[in-house]
Amino acid sequence: MSLKFYNTLTKEKEEFVPIHEGEVRMYNCGPTVYNYPHIGNYRAYIFADTLKRVFLYNGYKVKHIMNITDIDDKTIRDSQQAGKSLKEFTEFYTEEFYKDEKMLNILSPDKFTKATDYIDEMVEIIKKLLTNGIAYKSPDGSVYFDIKKFKNYGKLSNLVLGEQKENASGRIKKDEYEKDNPQDFALWKAWDKEDGDVFWETSLGKGRPGWHIECSAMSIKNLGEQLDIHTGGVDNIFPHHENEIAQSESATGKQFVKYWMHNEWMLVDQKKMSKSLNNSYILKDVIDRNINPISFRFWLLMANYRTRVNFVWEALEGAETALKRLYKLYIELGDEMGKIAKKYQQKFKEYVSDDLDTPRALSLLWDLVKDENVSNADKKATILDFDKVLGLGFDKIKMAEKVEIPEDIKKLGDERESARKNKDWKKSDELRDKIFSLGYKIEDKDGGYEIGKI
Ligand SMILES: [Zn+2]
Repeated sequence: MSLKFYNTLTKEKEEFVPIHEGEVRMYNCGPTVYNYPHIGNYRAYIFADTLKRVFLYNGYKVKHIMNITDIDDKTIRDSQQAGKSLKEFTEFYTEEFYKDEKMLNILSPDKFTKATDYIDEMVEIIKKLLTNGIAYKSPDGSVYFDIKKFKNYGKLSNLVLGEQKENASGRIKKDEYEKDNPQDFALWKAWDKEDGDVFWETSLGKGRPGWHIECSAMSIKNLGEQLDIHTGGVDNIFPHHENEIAQSESATGKQFVKYWMHNEWMLVDQKKMSKSLNNSYILKDVIDRNINPISFRFWLLMANYRTRVNFVWEALEGAETALKRLYKLYIELGDEMGKIAKKYQQKFKEYVSDDLDTPRALSLLWDLVKDENVSNADKKATILDFDKVLGLGFDKIKMAEKVEIPEDIKKLGDERESARKNKDWKKSDELRDKIFSLGYKIEDKDGGYEIGKI
């Protein structure tokens, strides 16, 4: 099956041809661990995970690296505000991130690479760029990349140098800046007092790396000078990925990445997520509302990764209801495991291999569930096959649902049901709490109720 993906570099949907036969080398820009990632960040990781699963499904071997940015402007600033060492501060959020990834059923990469473990590799690339005359030292000892020396600067983000605002020149030491203001960016930041005790003594002097060089160093070290796939959110295209290309290609003389892939924004109530608007949610907010994190994954898969999505709680609740229905239908298929329905598998493969058309793949899943010409046992096998890509956790639900509900709990459930029928809400609530305290939860359904383990 040929795979086709939209490549941000060529602005076209292209057939995927790996650099090394049968193998994919893939790098994802990971989180900056200065806080809990918001759910919008997870769109990028769920997208990258789906992509990886599609490669595995098509029989590729995947070499996969994801970084943890544990040193940048924000981690320094916020660790100081928290009165903690950079290490202690970032390790906490790194662990929280790993937990979230598990809850979202995201497959772990071969390696999570922490930027602070790659300072030597960064210094090495920067020295190469200084030797080539592409980078230069500023009077304070920082090292900058001269964007005019790299003729392809702007090829990813469609930026034409010289067409920006008049003041769009000079140097920028900050990690993040806007596209209408491209400037020589910092590869190495000479220590200043705001950095406190965060610095490395290297042959470049006392200082710390810029954010962009981190990803070049970690990807080249682990995956080689040329990668098949590099992913991130569209907000990474400029300046981060543009700068990664400039640094890496200037240092190696080779094309850095063959296919650049980016997921679109996730808005909340049609706005960008931000702390000031109070619309920035984390995965814990989803769990606190008693919603399975997998429902969030399911909701995202309903849209193509290249379309903007707008998050509202009602939509997520709708996804939760639909997912529960699918789980229930799956359980009702019984215990017997049959064979994969080839006709469905073929279509499924076709859809997901076409620039990850997950919306079509999901509607195929519903078609399969309803198809009376496929036996229950075969449906079951086919759902599990689809789930290798979808990652909705069908392989785990059987155990959870097989739990026998003890008689005394069932009795309490019946008592609560009669209290409800008599509109004795107080008693009904008390009984629900009692059931909960015994480790079970009760859910009201049309014309009845269901008890499950918490
Ligand atoms: Zn990156």
